Amino acid sequence: MSDIIHLLPDSVANQIAAGEVIQRPASVLKELVENAIDAEATHVQILVKDAGRTLIQIVDDGKGMSATDARMAFERHATSKISDAADLFALHTMGFRGEALASIAAVAQVEVRTRPAADELGTRIEIAGSRVFAQESVQCPAGTCFLVKNLFFNVPARRRFLKSDNVEKTHLLNEFYRIALVNPRIAFTFIDGDEELFRLEPSNVKVRIESIFGKASRKRWEQQLLPVETETGLARIYGYIGKPEYAQKSANQYFFANGRYMRHPYFHKAVMAAYDRMLPSGANPNYFIYFEVNPAAIDINIHPTKTEIKFEHEHALWPILSAAVKETLGKFNVVPSIDFDTEGAPDMPVMHPSTAIRPPQTTFNPAYNPFARTPSARGSRPTLAQDWEKLYAGFERAATPASTDEATPPEGETLESSLAFAPPAADGKPEGASTKNLQLRHRYILTGIKSGLLVVDQQRAHMRILYDRYMAQLEQQQGASQQLLFPEGLTLTPDEALTLTEVMPDLRHVGFDLADEGEGRYRVNGIPAQLEAVSASGLLHHVLADARAALADPARRIRESIAASLATADSLKPGQPLTNEEMSDLIDRLFASSNPNYAPDGRKIVATLPFEELERLF
Ligand code: ADP
Ligand code: MG
Repeated sequence: MSDIIHLLPDSVANQIAAGEVIQRPASVLKELVENAIDAEATHVQILVKDAGRTLIQIVDDGKGMSATDARMAFERHATSKISDAADLFALHTMGFRGEALASIAAVAQVEVRTRPAADELGTRIEIAGSRVFAQESVQCPAGTCFLVKNLFFNVPARRRFLKSDNVEKTHLLNEFYRIALVNPRIAFTFIDGDEELFRLEPSNVKVRIESIFGKASRKRWEQQLLPVETETGLARIYGYIGKPEYAQKSANQYFFANGRYMRHPYFHKAVMAAYDRMLPSGANPNYFIYFEVNPAAIDINIHPTKTEIKFEHEHALWPILSAAVKETLGKFNVVPSIDFDTEGAPDMPVMHPSTAIRPPQTTFNPAYNPFARTPSARGSRPTLAQDWEKLYAGFERAATPASTDEATPPEGETLESSLAFAPPAADGKPEGASTKNLQLRHRYILTGIKSGLLVVDQQRAHMRILYDRYMAQLEQQQGASQQLLFPEGLTLTPDEALTLTEVMPDLRHVGFDLADEGEGRYRVNGIPAQLEAVSASGLLHHVLADARAALADPARRIRESIAASLATADSLKPGQPLTNEEMSDLIDRLFASSNPNYAPDGRKIVATLPFEELERLF
């Protein structure tokens, strides 16, 4: 029998390879624009016709190719970018596989004109289906111009596989965004048919993001981006994140590593964890995050169309990234820029170096004791407005170590802490009552601000304040406990008991005192000092159910779940009447909190009605 194995002709081998590299017009755009960037172009012009089916033209002002290089470039595995395997671990270019041009030329009609600036004449090559039809010297501008016509002209099955023009155009634009976002210093023009879609000037990352996505509403983008920046031995991470209130169902979320777009579901979780509980449900924040790492510490996917990149230190980078995003959100306080009405507010005198500094003076009511309440006060939520401050009573003890063996702290401590807390004075004439607030349906607080009307959901505001308190206690492990006069029994399911073992230390830190009596039975001896009028066992069932869900979700933090459950249980219910001072106090506390915009469960706390809109009503 004669031998039957033979090598495939180059044209067939290239076509097979092209199946991997070139899947649609967007792949051509990506490969050619990346080549232009590798050639150090400062301006790249992209022109597509019929969503790239009939024409994709890429013009660059980069370093161009000599006649020999231009011809060589179309050979498979021909590249100027790496020469041995070691170079793979020190990549500084987008390309390195040397198969893009060979693949494109296998499945389309390609024409290239190219000239290095130092040469007088350039080269023109025509190649289609891997066959060279022309090569000649021509007059042409310095740089390179690629024309790719009739993609898949010789592979009808592939051509049919393409989607509608709109879908293909979306792919083209997505590839374009990925490259333009990570090369802000390069100018890009994108022309679709006769329409110029983008003309991007050289700029910085922020302006580039705004010019790409802010086409419809530039202002919206200028207002929402917050800078992220952190540098450690492992990586420099920088970029921009969107404010939570601009989060939408479909968001623009981009990661880049060493100048290359990447998908990274694991780092995505780190970003989302930082936004935890700041987003309305179902909403996603925009983010554009750039990593700079030692090329040896990442593994660029060898597969030509995969965008995942493996990081050697990704477990160490996760918390760094999350903390950086969180820090930005905290630093910018993601508070609406509310300019409170300063009318009637105390005047802040300008400091003169000559004036003597007077120590601040305080007055307090030595008779005030927030813990002075009859035992019967526990067991029912105070409904009278003057009892309202009790909702906060006990918070001030957060700063002192948990004491489980005494029901009230030493007298001196109470005085000091009640001062720090500035409760409404016992004589009922609190200070700073000049702002007039209005309570609507015992549910919303309305107050005037400089720019219009502020509406606050009282329960959610209270929830946010309590949540911050509980978080602080959990983090400082210093929540105070109040002993129950009549310890409550608690029976847990095996699941709940299991969860309890996980969260027991945290529960102790906020002031729970539980004794295990075996066989799923517990005795609740103490609860957080500031908790009012709740069934301890009912609350614990709640806390454990939430904690169990949080344990199952790596993006959620167990402490945040505990703080949220407690804050929800303890917050003011709608229908609670408040005095003017109580409302002012609540608003002050809200705006001193970590996020006045959203409750820990993601619901909105405040809304504003600007004057212009008020005026429009009349
Ligand atoms: P790779 O980019 O992986 O090296 P390609 O097939 O995309 O492989 O390109 C092959 C070679 O052609 C590149 O290594 C480069 O030397 C050259 N080349 C391609 N496009 C350009 C361009 N626009 N300007 C200058 N040189 C180019
Ligand atoms: Mg390339």
